[in-house]
Amino acid sequence: MTRRADLDAVIIGGGVAGIAALRELDRAGWKVLCLEARDRVGGRILTIRDPLSPIPIELGAEFIHGRSPEIWDVIKSAKLTAYECADRAVYLKNGEPKALRDAWEQVDYVMTDMQKAAERGKDRSFAEFLKRSKHSGNAKRLAASYVEGFNAARQEVIGIRSLAQDARASDEIDGDRSFRILNGYEAIVIQLANGIIGLDSKLRLNSAVEKIEWQRGSATVHFREALTGQGESVRTRAVIVAVPLGVLQTSPGAVGSFQFDPEPSDTLEAARSLRFGQVMRVALRFREAIWETNKDISDAGFLLSDEPRFPTWWTPLPVRAPIITGWSAGPRADELLGQPRSFVIAQALGALASITGCPRARVDSLLEGAYFHDWHGDAFAQGAYSYVPAGALAARKKLAEPVCETLYFAGEATDLNGHSATVHGAIASGKRAARECIASAGCTI
Ligand SMILES: Cc1cc2nc3c(=O)[nH]c(=O)nc-3n(C[C@H](O)[C@H](O)[C@H](O)COP(=O)(O)OP(=O)(O)OC[C@H]3O[C@@H](n4cnc5c(N)ncnc54)[C@H](O)[C@@H]3O)c2cc1C
Repeated sequence: MTRRADLDAVIIGGGVAGIAALRELDRAGWKVLCLEARDRVGGRILTIRDPLSPIPIELGAEFIHGRSPEIWDVIKSAKLTAYECADRAVYLKNGEPKALRDAWEQVDYVMTDMQKAAERGKDRSFAEFLKRSKHSGNAKRLAASYVEGFNAARQEVIGIRSLAQDARASDEIDGDRSFRILNGYEAIVIQLANGIIGLDSKLRLNSAVEKIEWQRGSATVHFREALTGQGESVRTRAVIVAVPLGVLQTSPGAVGSFQFDPEPSDTLEAARSLRFGQVMRVALRFREAIWETNKDISDAGFLLSDEPRFPTWWTPLPVRAPIITGWSAGPRADELLGQPRSFVIAQALGALASITGCPRARVDSLLEGAYFHDWHGDAFAQGAYSYVPAGALAARKKLAEPVCETLYFAGEATDLNGHSATVHGAIASGKRAARECIASAGCTI
């Protein structure tokens, strides 16, 4: 005899994708439960509030890229304040600008050519594209650093087809403009969750899923409650898996990972064909903004450099606050992975001293606070965000495909419209997975 399912759907993961799916299914009248391993929602959105800091500090997502409806509808309905970020980028060495032109212009020329090459020929890595391109050494270096930094990717791995798809998608939403939420990115998560009536019975925190036993039309989800250590299980008709790609790629048995029984082998193979990039970001708070004393950079939103570990920095402009963020991604982050926090922060301070030309002793003496989250060492993230190797674009589609009208997949890595690795792409993926569930319920139940 089969027992009836307790729930219509279980969602695994309470990041924006999972919460967006929960909201859709709840509105459709589904009996649904979201299981989140951490003691908070939001996943890779992590806003820190320090009473000593004049602005919220972001340790995960910070920028709203362009004008996607997924985010701006939330901003409007919650009456949040978003402001546009200062975009001017200066390419620096020892405090001296290497060129007076906005560095993004040079990157744009290379990226426009890359898009044409992706449309004309076969997919290849960005490094291969650069090797054959005729741009100056400086422009190539800046473009490679941009692609590796922005996508948390290796230039010899990431494919130009996916980069071109992302660039087209970004153009459609005015993606070269970036915005911040004055109250911190967390406000988007809170607003998404606030729309759900009776949330406390539909969302369980501290509940790490360990196993999904399933067959067509039903599943049992086993999870462990972190506070009590108790194992529990729920029966459901459908499961939406909205965990990071890094978690799907982790071998069963490791903390954070879970096991499917049976394995959806095509889905897991697709997950292994994609890459999950690494980022180390450090926000530094000073007694005074040392970078503002240099008039060449005092109005720059971004400081770019050839520093080996932290080449990219940004200021909170147009908000003036003595806080600056260092960004190390892709191969630049490799030597920082697994290192203690003090080592990572020291590397960031060294890089800032070098690119601003400010003596290291002075940088250290003005430092008041440093903020860092190790996404690589975080068992429920395993890294920063996904990217597509050359020739593997079809893997995203496979990863997003429902399995036997029972398992559904959401999360930034499953976005098919060129918005992966973003918050708006993750929200869209959660809505898409919920709609797929609802559509297939019509034929299976
Ligand atoms: C450092 C950094 C900077 C970024 N900057 C930007 C930016 O400026 N702009 C932008 O648009 N995007 C940015 N991103 C990307 C953006 O944060 C993500 O694309 C988006 O937040 C992903 O949402 P998600 O719901 O797909 O995944 P997540 O937010 O990772 O949510 C997945 C959830 O699943 C949970 N989970 C994992 N394993 C289990 C388990 N076994 N059981 C139960 N729950 C589990 C996790 O705890 C997590 O809460 C950044 C990311 C990082 C790391």
